[in-house]
Amino acid sequence: MPESLEDRILRLLQNSEGDGVLQSTLSKSLGVDGKTLLRSLSKLEKRGVIKREPYQDGGRRTYKISLLKRPQKVDLSDVLWVSCTVCPDLERCGRGQPISPETCEKLTAAIKLEYQRLSSSGAIKSAH
Ligand code: SF4
Repeated sequence: MPESLEDRILRLLQNSEGDGVLQSTLSKSLGVDGKTLLRSLSKLEKRGVIKREPYQDGGRRTYKISLLKRPQKVDLSDVLWVSCTVCPDLERCGRGQPISPETCEKLTAAIKLEYQRLSSSGAIKSAH
């Protein structure tokens, strides 16, 4: 599936240095006209993902686009409990395969253990 313009905008903003990118720069970098870009920016603004602020670029008025939520970085220690990280069957495992996460006892046990750990630490509330 081709990447949507919204996804391309977000990727560009995520990879940019500083606190935002000028709308005119976005338009050039993505190779889209201003009207098409504005439509996608409006959608992202409504979703609360970006903000669009008036900006004076020399004598020209434009807008500066910045992300409201930076994607969270996953710390390796957050996923080390997942049995798949050290599983010798990882390459052969997949949905609908003989070895599958749906039927894996190692993964089920790891999830139960992590659930118990989080419950006892108060990070999540038990359903009981
Ligand atoms: S789901 Fe089970 S078999 Fe598959 S990679 Fe994870 S631990 Fe290994």
